[in-house]
Amino acid sequence: MENAILSNQTYFDDVTQLIGNTPLLKLNNMFKEQEVFAKLEYYNPTFSIKDRAAFYMVKKAIEKKQVQKGHTIIAATSGNTGLGLCLASNYFGLNYLCVTFDSVPNEKISLLKAFGATVVICDSEAESDEEGGYVWVAEKLNEKIENSYLIDQFTDINNPLVHYMDTGHEIWRQMNGEIDYYFSTIGTGGTITGVGRYLKKMNPNIKVIGVEPEGGIYRKVFKNQKYNFDTHLINSISDCFISPNTDFEVIDDIIGVSDNASFNMCYRALQNESLCIGTSSGCVLRGIEEYINKYDIGKNKRIVTIFPDMGLKYINTLYDLDFLESNNINIDKSKKDDNLKKY
Ligand code: PMP
Repeated sequence: MENAILSNQTYFDDVTQLIGNTPLLKLNNMFKEQEVFAKLEYYNPTFSIKDRAAFYMVKKAIEKKQVQKGHTIIAATSGNTGLGLCLASNYFGLNYLCVTFDSVPNEKISLLKAFGATVVICDSEAESDEEGGYVWVAEKLNEKIENSYLIDQFTDINNPLVHYMDTGHEIWRQMNGEIDYYFSTIGTGGTITGVGRYLKKMNPNIKVIGVEPEGGIYRKVFKNQKYNFDTHLINSISDCFISPNTDFEVIDDIIGVSDNASFNMCYRALQNESLCIGTSSGCVLRGIEEYINKYDIGKNKRIVTIFPDMGLKYINTLYDLDFLESNNINIDKSKKDDNLKKY
């Protein structure tokens, strides 16, 4: 996508130019034997990686005349795609109906409403794609509402495509092509599929590792094992179904990480790297640590990951002591990570 930073402009012509070209940061304090880099996707205008896919999916739908000014777009989302769609619908003069569910942090719901989206909140207990679930409700509303267009981030190929063209390309350029591992969470699978495909096209030896909460089903499906979905506290990833936008062909392995370890990782990132990251970022970072611990990958490997969004979206959950207590999360805030020097 066009970006002013790349063309040496002194200012940005409009907000959509702020999408992408996010910074890549080396994590200096938490990993001693490996070089770990994180792409900070909260530098996007609505503070998450989903601005990229949301904007691109709408742009393509407009180009194909599937939707036009004054029409309504509808999407099932756990919040971040919704915020990106708010930006896109403002930009293109569309209405936006966001279908989400009641366990989405209220910070995100408030932002969606402030942006002017019409928000429908579904029961998180209902299976997403069955009656009453947020994906099912979005489809039903699309049938009922005139001049509406359903943005389906789980099947729309423009979702992985934008990560192939932009996110993957940016990572390759920022790392100067020197990458051994790419770690990613899986929500719609757009990121891992697009970035993974691009990196493997550039160098087939790069290993692509998925990370999911313990209750997730991706690693079981990947290994052809029986599975049961268990709820978890990591927002926006690992739903109870396999998203068609996840291409298992680009994935070398998938590991599971507990909620407690993921939440603790967010606090460690704050204390050791001064980074205020969201729960899925903590999950993937902990996945890197567990993978390094479990497998002998050798020293000085160059590992890259993505932090999809920021901790300020989780002030009343991840960073709220009452929430932690009522969900049996024990944060060890006793000291900085000197003991991590062995990694
Ligand atoms: N983390 C967060 C916070 C997200 O909003 C998303 C998007 N659902 C992801 C991770 C996963 O991204 P993707 O949908 O591209 O798999």
